[in-house]
Amino acid sequence: MDRFAIARARMVSEQIERRGIHEPHLLEVLRSVPRHHFVPQESLDLAYADRPLPIGYRQTISQPYIVALMTDLLKLTGGECVLEVGTGSGYQAAVLSKLAREVHSVEFIPELAESARSNLADYENVTVHFGDGSLGWQESAPYDGILVAAAAPKTPQRLLDQLADGGNLVIPVGGRAMQVLEVWTRNGNAFTTDSVTSVAFVPLRGEQGWDKMKW
Ligand code: SAH
Repeated sequence: MDRFAIARARMVSEQIERRGIHEPHLLEVLRSVPRHHFVPQESLDLAYADRPLPIGYRQTISQPYIVALMTDLLKLTGGECVLEVGTGSGYQAAVLSKLAREVHSVEFIPELAESARSNLADYENVTVHFGDGSLGWQESAPYDGILVAAAAPKTPQRLLDQLADGGNLVIPVGGRAMQVLEVWTRNGNAFTTDSVTSVAFVPLRGEQGWDKMKW
């Protein structure tokens, strides 16, 4: 047991279960993945706090509850191929790797892609790609689940195109300060969509994201 195991158990019971997430396998994974390996050294004491944390380059590792909520919304059962857009620290990808067969994660900032690769070295079913994830990652498509960890002005068509039949896409969509977390589900060539809650994410950049001026 590492010295953070108690903090991690408290994080799960006080921040995640208390807010209504009860999927047992997900909770078990959140109790086991060492979030402190994914935060900068100077934030180690805040690794399990109820908030996002800076990871450099003006980016953040999401709040634990938001990681739990977005993962829960994908409804993974273990056999899926999943795409994450916005690798950041790699923590979300590590959580996904324990609940899916294969995880592809795309990061736009080369230095973050590099450090996430090293953080994720022991997670053999995760591949970190450097590139513009607003266009998805065509090479390994289709995906049974897609999780976008940055705020989009609207849901990129390319991501919908890369979603497998029956798959779920979870994405924050909206403006600068606030967005709505949307879930899109594919049924053949039709999609249903559901708005879950308000969230605040860093911007999605790239072709289907925000350019610097607009943001
Ligand atoms: N999931 C991450 C947190 C992501 S923060 C974690 O667990 O730590 C959002 C990330 O999205 C940032 O690292 C940012 O650089 C990245 N990002 C923004 N636009 C992107 C794009 N078009 N393609 C890929 N990554 C992008």
